[in-house]
Amino acid sequence: MSTAQAEAKAFVSQMPLKMFIGGKWVDADAGKTFEVRDPGDGGVIARVSEGDSKEVDLAVSAARQAFTKSGWATKPANDRAVILHRLADLIDRNREIIAQIESLDVGKPVAQPLGFDVPNAAQTFRYYADLSVYVRRREPIAVTGFEARTARFPYGVCGFIVPWNFPFLLLCWGIAPALAAGNTVVVKPAEDTPLSTLYFCKLAEEAGIPAGVINIVTGFGGAAGAALARHPGINRMTFTGSPEVGRLVAESCGRNLVPVKLELGGKGAAVLFDDIDVDQAADALVGAVTLNAGQVCCTATRWLVQENIWDKFVERASSTMQSLRIGYGGDPDTAIGPVVSAKQQSRVLNFLEKGTKEGASFLLQGGKADVKGHEGGFYVKPTLLTGSADNVCAREEIFGPVAYVMRFKEEQEAVDLVNRSNYGLANSVWSRDLGRANRVAEAMVAGNSWINGHNLFAHGIPYGGCNLSGFGGGVLGPDTLLDYLREQSVVRPLS
Ligand code: NAD
Repeated sequence: MSTAQAEAKAFVSQMPLKMFIGGKWVDADAGKTFEVRDPGDGGVIARVSEGDSKEVDLAVSAARQAFTKSGWATKPANDRAVILHRLADLIDRNREIIAQIESLDVGKPVAQPLGFDVPNAAQTFRYYADLSVYVRRREPIAVTGFEARTARFPYGVCGFIVPWNFPFLLLCWGIAPALAAGNTVVVKPAEDTPLSTLYFCKLAEEAGIPAGVINIVTGFGGAAGAALARHPGINRMTFTGSPEVGRLVAESCGRNLVPVKLELGGKGAAVLFDDIDVDQAADALVGAVTLNAGQVCCTATRWLVQENIWDKFVERASSTMQSLRIGYGGDPDTAIGPVVSAKQQSRVLNFLEKGTKEGASFLLQGGKADVKGHEGGFYVKPTLLTGSADNVCAREEIFGPVAYVMRFKEEQEAVDLVNRSNYGLANSVWSRDLGRANRVAEAMVAGNSWINGHNLFAHGIPYGGCNLSGFGGGVLGPDTLLDYLREQSVVRPLS
């Protein structure tokens, strides 16, 4: 066992793992705990304190106290930036431990959080820390007859509810801009995957973030999550997760007139024209739909293939999919780990059953996969389906390693197929003809259109959704920082 593995196991095996509120590690008031399982073999790996509305109250009041009293909100931006850079460095220094925890908790192959989630999370703190130094907190407004300016202030206490597919990365994408702007936060991680969020608090303490600036309440969505969403003491809410729960969170926020940002699901398409390098595009899309066992909101799950490259494309995609090793996340040869839970495994298998009953057929047969030595794990084979655009598997988010492949002849037909979806998160177009690619990219209705690639992220490029995929801002862009600063005009008549 490597040192990082040993440290990760030692951290998660503290029984129970406590919540982090007001700078203290606390048990749930009622003494309740819940189990966290390893998706790779179904075994219990941790026991975590189960908070509910009582702990949410404590966390919101600790965050309020820190907002008004700790000096975090009123520090010059560069002083906060120094602390956030220190936190980013600590994330980098502990990246192997965080990647091990994430792999244990989510099931993903260790190389993935090690190569992407964790370094990207550290970089997110650096990006917003640096940007915050240059945001103009006071901007003059030139209007005849007045001396006027816009002033920008942090909102106060910001709530965050996070899903289980990228727990560490989405935590950091969410809270980094809010903290850099001077807010304090209360976070409810997903009950399936709370472990790396708790480890993060150790690093935040070490970086010198004042007590109460970051508060974590672990617990279930219907109790802790709902209590946070309806809490009158929060000033802003950010929710990442399913549209079903997003609606409930938005309703609660609406009742309190609290602004809310929703980052929801997707049913992304990839449009493949016949002038592409077919093998390269097929391999890239197989990589996209099997990343994190397909549990990626923005991934391409509907592949629209121009008819004269259909055979070559399907053959290559099937053979590449079959070559990927399904295995335990901690095994270095694993390309596709398990899905996160037994519930998620049933969801994917039920979709395959419903889809084929409605007339879809397999281009590559999917189903449950067994991994020797890890019999209790939640493994699913990558799958290619084809059939009508009305099929349930072509319409709904499956959230597993499943692509639905359809043919098209003409450009407009492809655009119409893409835009049949109620979701609007991310699509891609693949063509050597950049005029056509750019035209299609703009015609596909979504928050993000990618050309000759899928799942493309960089700090500075905004990422968000429209329609059923959410609203209210998004992440990663420069404006995301402004989302966490409220504007106030200050005006004096000159005569
Ligand atoms: P989910 O909506 O079931 O849960 C998300 C979070 O909400 C969890 O922390 C959960 O405990 C909490 N929650 C559940 N019920 C709640 C309630 N009644 N009130 C308040 N909070 C509650 O989603 P999931 O299954 O964890 O994640 C998968 C979904 O997230 C997919 O739809 C995926 O596409 C979406 N997602 C979107 C993005 C994005 O950036 N757009 C990123 C990742 C995941």
